[in-house]
Amino acid sequence: MLIDGHGRRVNYLRISVTERCNFRCQYCMPEKPFSWVPRENLLSFEELFEFVRVAVDEGIDKIRITGGEPLLREDLDRFIAMINGHKSGLDLALTTNGFLLADVAFRLKEAGLKRINVSIDSLKPEVAAKIAQKDVLSRVLAGVEKALEAGLSVKVNMVPLKGINEDEIVDVMEYAKARGMTIRYIEYMENVHAKAGLKGLTGKEILFKVKQRYSIRKIGREGSSPAFNYVTDDGYRFGVIDPHKHDFCESCNRIRLTAEGHLIPCLYFDEAMSIREAVKSGDIKRATEILREVLRNKPEKNRWSEEDSEESSRAFYETGG
Ligand code: SAM
Ligand code: SF4
Repeated sequence: MLIDGHGRRVNYLRISVTERCNFRCQYCMPEKPFSWVPRENLLSFEELFEFVRVAVDEGIDKIRITGGEPLLREDLDRFIAMINGHKSGLDLALTTNGFLLADVAFRLKEAGLKRINVSIDSLKPEVAAKIAQKDVLSRVLAGVEKALEAGLSVKVNMVPLKGINEDEIVDVMEYAKARGMTIRYIEYMENVHAKAGLKGLTGKEILFKVKQRYSIRKIGREGSSPAFNYVTDDGYRFGVIDPHKHDFCESCNRIRLTAEGHLIPCLYFDEAMSIREAVKSGDIKRATEILREVLRNKPEKNRWSEEDSEESSRAFYETGG
């Protein structure tokens, strides 16, 4: 079992397999970054898997593949099958923008993927195109249909933005609800890479919009999930992730690995250690030591909830959100 320096059990690893993306979402990567990590610096699936084995053997039982856009990495199903083959019963999930999903949904399911989160910020083609800076909607929706057909459990993520998609909060919920999918609204988190002047809705403002259609009841947080859950009067459960107000650090159970091999203890902070050399040389002992050291140094709290919090310099597309 992995316990961090503040007594929290850590069992969740998020792996960003690439920082590259085929979208340019205003809140994440509005412009192509000045420089990408050179392709030769990306760890191969075999090298990433070296670390996954160490992490799983030490107590990680939940793994999410993310990015950038993870489906840009060719044969992602091969990586998923490697992880699934190491230990059965792992909670294996993927976060994707859905654009490339339709063609690979069945392969991902067969490889052992269980759950998928798809980002859907709007159901209006022109608004989705404004946010992602590309005409994306029809392919994303086709990807969702295929994932459901393949038998994957699908959740929708939406980032409500002032003056852009705030009028669609209930519409996106209705879309998800009609397909048996949960929706999670994520407060926009300020970061230096996002488009200047962008404003997100607070959790309270999001709930206010939902309440114009439904009566809702609080359920609360489940396990270590950062989402606060609610249920509508007709029994639909949904979640809100509101780091500005709710401090979910107390039950934080996660660490993050980037495509280059940086092991990051907290999304907000810049501290990280590299497992790169250890996995490249197959030094399992060193990889285990680094994992333990990162856990010892995991910060107690992020700072999004503080009034005077500065914007984070860590890119979401690098850490995987
Ligand atoms: N490309 C995939 C996608 O968009 O789902 C996976 C990576 S993306 C960085 C993971 C999640 O982070 C997405 O749900 C996205 O909406 C969210 N995200 C990105 N930037 C954000 C920000 N500034 N504030 C809140 N959520 C953000
Ligand atoms: Fe790409 Fe996802 Fe970031 Fe949008 S949120 S730019 S899809 S990584």
